[in-house]
Amino acid sequence: MDPKEARKIVESSYKMASGGKEMSEMDAVLVRYGEIGIKSDRVRSRYERTLIENIRGRLNFCEVSYDTIVRDFGRIFVHTQDSRAALAIASVFGVVSVSPVQTSSSDLDRAASDALRIVSPLLKGGRSFGIRARRTGTHDYSSKDIGVIVGSKIVEATNAPVKLSAPDVQLFIDVRQSRAYLYTRVIQGVGGLPLGTQGKVVALISGGIDSPVAAWLMMKRGCTIIPLFFDCGFHLSDTAKQRALEVVRALAVWAGTPLNLARVSHESCLSKFNAVSPRMTCVLCKRMMYRVASSVAKQEAAHGIVTGESIGQVASQTTHNLMAINDAADVPIYRPLIGLDKTEIIHLARRIGTYRLSTAGDSVSCTAAPAHPTTSADPYELKRQEAQLYTRDLSIQEAESISWNRISPDRTYRWILSQNKSRSN
Ligand code: ATP
Ligand code: MG
Repeated sequence: MDPKEARKIVESSYKMASGGKEMSEMDAVLVRYGEIGIKSDRVRSRYERTLIENIRGRLNFCEVSYDTIVRDFGRIFVHTQDSRAALAIASVFGVVSVSPVQTSSSDLDRAASDALRIVSPLLKGGRSFGIRARRTGTHDYSSKDIGVIVGSKIVEATNAPVKLSAPDVQLFIDVRQSRAYLYTRVIQGVGGLPLGTQGKVVALISGGIDSPVAAWLMMKRGCTIIPLFFDCGFHLSDTAKQRALEVVRALAVWAGTPLNLARVSHESCLSKFNAVSPRMTCVLCKRMMYRVASSVAKQEAAHGIVTGESIGQVASQTTHNLMAINDAADVPIYRPLIGLDKTEIIHLARRIGTYRLSTAGDSVSCTAAPAHPTTSADPYELKRQEAQLYTRDLSIQEAESISWNRISPDRTYRWILSQNKSRSN
């Protein structure tokens, strides 16, 4: 999409979402981050620097202009007048919430005049207002005084009713040392930890709904991902392959950088499994995937593999079969969806923008999957089949078949800006 057109759409949806109760002036975005704040000084400083770099990357990617980004005692301020900045920043991992703010002074007369100028257009038609004031630093007034002094000035000028619980317009006033920040909106961020503050993981991406959500949840906790796709050849339609590619493109938007997608030729192994033991095909297939993924993890200095498995979702994911496939991996397996229902996974997939990509085109199912797969594979029988098939050698061949593709982020990034919800107003 043309960047100018994307910008227009975002700006208009932003106005609609605020219901006309959003202040029109701003000179910065106030960024709050949660868990980082409780780390030791050294770790916090490193995490904050990574977070700032990631914010910078997201703003550049979304073509949002800004002047400076500064840290100030547990907060980050992005100096910008671009109304899209807040939504772009809210989608950066590690950000708990953001507010577009107008900077004023800790001098209460000045703060009150600025507050009046900002809220009076929002108080037309008998709308009520409430003030939420906070203060850090040394001042000769309390936070309650801020509410009383600024509130009286607004009532005097507008006659608007004051309502402390659920007012039509909430005005937040954060006084920090010599400045005051005025805002009317708190937009929820995506949360988590800044991407890149934890290790790498190999993400098994199938083109289905679950696997991109699992990968995203690991990214949300700060892990960088190496997407790995097993190409099942004629057993799987081109639609599945296309879906896998598209979700990686979407995950690259969240990552803020191109991703290296590894592709393994899995067709011949899958055919062999299907021929020797149809009912155990899926279990043998998963064990092979784990083996190859483990070797990629070691080669790429990654700390584990992540899959979209969820207990009982399909035959290969019964607790019995998960136990039977687990020991094929010799690195940790992360399964962030393990306790989620399909509806919960779909909800997340919609929110992160991968659902429409994972369901595009005709329905997809693996033709090697038997009609009646085993739900409780016998570990002894599995090992016997694998010995006969020389699966160790097969896994080495698969690992050697890997091809790498650099996948650039999807440039129609607009969807990433629409997953945040305003908590106030
Ligand atoms: P998804 O879980 O992505 O919706 P699915 O449920 O059809 O797809 P399953 O057969 O249940 O996939 O496999 C469970 C997990 O194994 C997937 O979530 C994914 O992490 C991994 N996986 C399955 N097929 C592939 C594949 N072709 N390439 C890479 N990983 C795969
Ligand atoms: Mg699944």
